[in-house]
Amino acid sequence: MRLTLDPVTLDPAKHPTAVTVGRLVATGYELEVHCLKCAHYVSKPAADWSLQPGDIVPALDGRFRCTRCGSKETTARPNYYRQG
Ligand SMILES: [Zn+2]
Repeated sequence: MRLTLDPVTLDPAKHPTAVTVGRLVATGYELEVHCLKCAHYVSKPAADWSLQPGDIVPALDGRFRCTRCGSKETTARPNYYRQG
């Protein structure tokens, strides 16, 4: 998955309980990104994506481009099954 440069559209101050990239990095969980078009997905440590600690995970939807099919219809979520 390749990160695109679209801005974050959710204000962290308005979503105080939403999990952030920084939270995943601190707890060691991976972040996974799924393509909604072709079902390709990638899971890797949150620190390995080119993201900011304050980025809200639900706000990452559509910010990646699938490296298999090129679609921007992507969704990101914490991967609580994999912890580094
Ligand atoms: Zn795809």
